[in-house]
Amino acid sequence: MPIHEKSLIRPENLVTHDELVIDGVDVSGHWSTFIRPRVITDYNEQMQEEIAALPGGEFIHRCWQCGSCTNSCTVNAVNSDFNPRYWIYLIRMGLEEELLRDKDIIWQCVSCNKCTYACPRDVNPEGVMKATAHWLELKGHTEKKPSMIFDEAFSEQVFDTGKIEDGAVLREFFVRTKQPLFQDWLIALVRGLASRLPVGLLMKLGLATLFHPRTHGWGRARAAIAEYVKERKAADRQALGLHVQGAE
Ligand code: SF4
Ligand code: SF4
Repeated sequence: MPIHEKSLIRPENLVTHDELVIDGVDVSGHWSTFIRPRVITDYNEQMQEEIAALPGGEFIHRCWQCGSCTNSCTVNAVNSDFNPRYWIYLIRMGLEEELLRDKDIIWQCVSCNKCTYACPRDVNPEGVMKATAHWLELKGHTEKKPSMIFDEAFSEQVFDTGKIEDGAVLREFFVRTKQPLFQDWLIALVRGLASRLPVGLLMKLGLATLFHPRTHGWGRARAAIAEYVKERKAADRQALGLHVQGAE
């Protein structure tokens, strides 16, 4: 559906009568369609401020609703319900109940950042999608989504070792999301890599998978990152008015 056709009229609020005659005129079916009045009582006046307080959401106030983000979006191309422009509109209007109707697809942003490059107002829509998914989770509207679980597995490894080892991240992600370790697409990918990459590099990758190398002298950096992450998490919860552990 083109974005300008996106409607705030909910299907359940459209009423028609199969058989209706008024003053002798047959207005059965769609001729008698009317829209139930809708009173919005669920404005969340804090929503834009809360999402702006989370990493990535800072510039949501700049949006002028041009729609370039949605038009360039990778996920929108395969699922027209994935609509960053529309969600930014809902957040800015404080229409929380409307936003919650899409709570199970917002996390599907693949962070390709096409929207970020298309945005004429430097809103960073990719960041807003991440902040919104984070907001939904912190507020208890959704359970932890796969993208968040992947981010955690990735960051924990980097924080711990100072290095990225893709195989270990994938393995950890599959374990946490209870997926089988051997999947057809993964086997095909590994086979493809094995047939194309130089032997020396393949050996290095294999050794890295077995021995988990660490960046030399990473201890102090790890401690500093751990402290920052703790502070950041506390700040995020505080911005949303949520209980902060150890704050009493
Ligand atoms: S980063 Fe997310 S919202 Fe932006 S274009 Fe890519 S999938 Fe769409
Ligand atoms: S491209 Fe930027 S300004 Fe345009 S609707 Fe998307 S976020 Fe708003």
